[in-house]
Amino acid sequence: MNAYDTDVISSLLEERGHAIIRTPDNADCIIVNTCSVRDHAEQRAIGRLLDLSRHRDAVIVVCGCMAQRLGAALFDLVPAVRIVAGTDSYALLPDAVSAAVEDGGRFVFLERDDEGGYEATPIKSKGGISRYVSITRGCENYCSYCIVPYVRGKTRSRNADAIVREISSVVEWGAKEVTMLGQNVIAYRDGRIDFIGLAERVLAETEVRRLRFLTSHPRDVEAAVFELMAREKRFCSHIHLPVQAGSNRILAAMNRGYTRETYLEKLRQARTIVPGIAVTTDLIVGFPSETDDEFRQTLDLVREARFDAAFTFQYSRRAGTAANEMPDDVSPDEKKNRLLALNAIVQEERGRILSDHLGSRTEILLDGAAQKGEYRFLKGRTPEFRNVLVPPDGLNDGDIVPVVLKRLVNFTFEGEAATRK
Ligand code: SAM
Ligand code: SF4
Repeated sequence: MNAYDTDVISSLLEERGHAIIRTPDNADCIIVNTCSVRDHAEQRAIGRLLDLSRHRDAVIVVCGCMAQRLGAALFDLVPAVRIVAGTDSYALLPDAVSAAVEDGGRFVFLERDDEGGYEATPIKSKGGISRYVSITRGCENYCSYCIVPYVRGKTRSRNADAIVREISSVVEWGAKEVTMLGQNVIAYRDGRIDFIGLAERVLAETEVRRLRFLTSHPRDVEAAVFELMAREKRFCSHIHLPVQAGSNRILAAMNRGYTRETYLEKLRQARTIVPGIAVTTDLIVGFPSETDDEFRQTLDLVREARFDAAFTFQYSRRAGTAANEMPDDVSPDEKKNRLLALNAIVQEERGRILSDHLGSRTEILLDGAAQKGEYRFLKGRTPEFRNVLVPPDGLNDGDIVPVVLKRLVNFTFEGEAATRK
């Protein structure tokens, strides 16, 4: 989501005649787009801002979720900061940047537009084989641990015509793959158009070769999503379905709205309708009051669910959330040990699942080069979002090539091109 927001901010500034450069040296303005999901993310952003403070001639801007959460307090934490722009204030940035460059001064923008979205600021940055396009903003699920509803506001869906236009534009500029983004894309609604209706329109009205989405809430995802995947080869057979925990008591305390059993039932449904579908997930360890036994239920679930990959996190207390009212009573050492144990099982299962595909034939979209020792490869992804390296002979970024998966090294396949397209 932040990568997409960065695109929006860059587009707004370019529209006003600014040039985007990729290193801070010689910049008139340095913009740091931040995340607040865990304390660790905020600490890293503050460290980065303190480090960037040595660029004394540049106007330093903080935007994104940490800007929204901390507001003017950021001036005390990082005195070199000149502009703090919250999650709905990007349209104000060009004027503020010009004013700060010309006249000095400090600005804070924290107003939230709980109705509006990105309509006024379609992205303009060209290039890139795989692009993100936001379809919703905000979230109102209020999972008890999560800061997102407080910093990004209520769920708002973008206008379907604007989304189709934006996807057509990035495809015209060379993108082959688009990931539709939202905290819970399944909640998308524009009048009578729901998420499936939107995906069908994008597939019918644009030339996008591959369409993905991120993220979907397990409570809301329905058979229609899998049925569209089964019908439409361009709608990739991968779903990121964050489960968070394996214990029903913890899932209820998290306010997730599903049980271990209903989650696993959704996976069964997905795999029945789309036999080869890959499932990835997010998991949190050390949620308040999580016992050893409840943690073991998360490990059992990982064994049962057959995830291709998982993002795993130690619970991080966030001010203002419901879980913040519960004692953070799993010790830091215990959280760390649980994370290590969980990661070991996630990796073991991942290796097992990927190995099952050795020797199989699939298609990859090439999106860049990779060096391994003295050998140069092109890297690509399968529709299931698995990494594959192939020898570069005669192939180019953006090609979709049939390959046979020959070897598996560190969860990345090495493949051989079968026949070329
Ligand atoms: N909207 C997505 C969903 O519902 O799955 C996820 C959005 S959140 C930005 C990404 C992941 O961060 C979550 O799935 C969760 O695993 C993790 N996360 C969120 N809040 C957290 C917290 N307070 N401590 C640890 N992990 C957290
Ligand atoms: Fe946070 Fe839950 Fe919304 Fe995801 S669905 S952004 S975890 S509140």
